[in-house]
Amino acid sequence: MNQPRSSGNDQTSADTVLVTGATGYIGSHTCIELLASGYDVIGVDNFDNSEAVVLDRIAELAGRPIAFAELDIRDTDALRKVVAEHQPAAVIHFAGLKAVGESVAYPDKYWSVNVGGTLSLLDAIADSAVTKFVFSSSCTVYGDPAEVPVNESTPVAPISPYGRTKLTAEEMIRDILSTRDCSGLLLRYFNPVGAHESGRIGEDPVGVPNNLMPFAMQVAVGRRDSLSIFGDDYDTPDGTCVRDYIHVVDLADGHVAALKALDATDTCEIVNLGTGTGSSVLDVVNAAGEAVGTPIAHQVVGRRDGDAAIVFADTTKAEAMLGWKAERTMADMCRDHWAWQSQNPNGYE
Ligand code: NAD
Ligand code: UDP
Repeated sequence: MNQPRSSGNDQTSADTVLVTGATGYIGSHTCIELLASGYDVIGVDNFDNSEAVVLDRIAELAGRPIAFAELDIRDTDALRKVVAEHQPAAVIHFAGLKAVGESVAYPDKYWSVNVGGTLSLLDAIADSAVTKFVFSSSCTVYGDPAEVPVNESTPVAPISPYGRTKLTAEEMIRDILSTRDCSGLLLRYFNPVGAHESGRIGEDPVGVPNNLMPFAMQVAVGRRDSLSIFGDDYDTPDGTCVRDYIHVVDLADGHVAALKALDATDTCEIVNLGTGTGSSVLDVVNAAGEAVGTPIAHQVVGRRDGDAAIVFADTTKAEAMLGWKAERTMADMCRDHWAWQSQNPNGYE
């Protein structure tokens, strides 16, 4: 197994990782963990859903910068130039669009970026030195699973254009990598929350947050009046939906573990990344209130269309294949998300 080098600037290194979507929420946290593990990073992003200042914060937190190119992943020629210049040995592909509701309104955009962009990336790395490919997929591909915990053999049944683009991208990656000397991991994330413990980087949703934790934290910081809990009449212990929330830094560490695991395989595998523990909406609201020091104002409203009652991961495969396990608790997730939100009440400005 290759060991990442501890430092250096050899641009043909086997330890340079191309990270797409590097300035986004999960990408930025992963860049820091990659740098801390001795990898060099060449990041790309078009800032569609992120800010250039993130690059400064990554350098500040990691003690050294990443190389970076502003580009749209659908621009294959621009990507090819980056690959030729930096000669990465691995790719972690985060860049994409991720809002379920928006994907229903603008499916063409989602197919273009999530599927077209992924094809462009695969095209750009053809005949390159890349031998490891990690893809950001989502537990949304499972839809409303009949049984929990959800393992990698649970039938897939995405119910939104977003979910279908993720599943299609997975299948495309698997087909294309099978013709190349390149191993792959298709990582299906559960619900990433939290932030770097410094509070210097975090999730900065545009407009009204769709997701539970960012909404709750914006209530706490005074940007929103009250959180709507979407239904308390589900067949769950307290009637609210149950999800598998995972700290974004644990998730970032999972990507470092994935790169190391890819040294030992020549296949393309699906792996769930979650904690294996379910928390209800009320559990999250209460934990967030504890972290903030004041209860999160909330009221129960009707169900949101398309929400499954209970989704949480079976983490057996991740532990066996990656030697990785999420370590941080719900209290850690809320503490760190609050550190970010309270220090940056309006996000990256
Ligand atoms: P994010 O929006 O914060 O990051 C994605 C990044 O990709 C952004 O910086 C954005 O500017 C960039 N991007 C978008 N379109 C691009 C394009 N055409 N060219 C170049 N860059 C582009 O999202 P995130 O939460 O960090 O998610 C990263 C990945 O993980 C996504 O692929 C998402 O589908 C997947 N994922 C996220 C979650 C979640 O809840 N956050 C859950 C499961 C899977
Ligand atoms: N949720 C909620 N109020 C909100 C946002 C989300 O009650 O403002 C609930 C949602 O119904 C789901 C859970 O919180 O049961 C997690 O939703 P989120 O959108 O964060 O993630 P999902 O699991 O849907 O991807």
